[in-house]
Amino acid sequence: MPKIAVVPGDGIGPEVIHEALRVLSFLAPDVTTEAFDLGADRYLRDGTTMPPEVMHRFGTEFDAVLLGALGDPRVPSNVHAKDILLGSRFQLDLYINFRPCKLLDARYCPLKDKTEADVDFVVFRENTEGIYMGVGGQFKRGTADEIAVEEEINTRKGVERIIRAAFEWAVKNGKTKVCMSDKANAMRHGHDLWQRVFKLVAAEYPGIKASHLYVDVLAMRLVQAPQDFQVIVTNNLFGDILTDIGAALQGGIGLASSGNIHPGKAALFEPVHGSAPDIAGQGIANPLASILTVGMMLTYLGRPELEARVQAAVQGCLKSGQVTRELGGTLTTREAADAVIARL
Ligand code: ATP
Repeated sequence: MPKIAVVPGDGIGPEVIHEALRVLSFLAPDVTTEAFDLGADRYLRDGTTMPPEVMHRFGTEFDAVLLGALGDPRVPSNVHAKDILLGSRFQLDLYINFRPCKLLDARYCPLKDKTEADVDFVVFRENTEGIYMGVGGQFKRGTADEIAVEEEINTRKGVERIIRAAFEWAVKNGKTKVCMSDKANAMRHGHDLWQRVFKLVAAEYPGIKASHLYVDVLAMRLVQAPQDFQVIVTNNLFGDILTDIGAALQGGIGLASSGNIHPGKAALFEPVHGSAPDIAGQGIANPLASILTVGMMLTYLGRPELEARVQAAVQGCLKSGQVTRELGGTLTTREAADAVIARL
């Protein structure tokens, strides 16, 4: 019986996760969940961000973690979010940030004349290294002579395992192309490593067409011809940026889901959007990203047929305009989830 840890989090997080859990219990009643009171409220109450024993339990006791969103104007330092989300990524070594960008209804694509078949790619973003390790420093801070240094960390092992994960996923999912993106023409040390490792790993997958694009070119190509891409693998920072382009192509962050995964070890699934303090508490947040995230989690748990059902139900709602306000509909958060469950 799969066991899921749930962190509803801040702002609209608890609202959308509540609905996503209704979908989960409808589709997979055998999955058990345990909720964790972590987030801005807890931090403001007793100073707790992420207790080490909870992190340990996430890594050992649960099949996956489902996270809503973190971020609260009352905690401007965002320290709780850093400890919970970045803490999980680093301490549980969740080296794959998996982001599907799939258009479910052409009407929501900002590009003209694109069909649903034109936007259907996944991004493998390296999730434990790169610029996010916080290596660097400031000197003569606040003076006219200030120097700020930010270093990007790329290890041979880290680069190899994310590239390999992308190829493995391509093979398992019947894809034929993997594109690696870096900026080796400007970042000559770290990204040269990416280039060399990509060639070595690609040679092990002769059935997959391996290509390379500098990240500026890829950003342009994703907007001009998203249909050319199936699987993209890239570093932490570029993945962050490219997946926002991907979210826009698929209809906005209200529809974008993601997984932080270390295969065979631990995984944390979350909608891409933030806590959206501007609409929190109003019951109007779009729950579809969280519902699609639950679908992705079900595939991870070995039940891809349930994810296919979730996608079909969400697609049905999108096509018939049963959506929340930001997508042009009139439904509340709860009504949007009811519409999905009715289709299921
Ligand atoms: P973060 O830094 O955590 O990404 P943010 O404020 O930059 O936070 P979001 O919280 O994702 O980004 O919100 C960006 C905008 O999108 C806001 O105007 C918010 O209202 C809207 N938004 C985000 N998620 C949803 C959602 N699920 N349903 C409706 N609107 C949303």
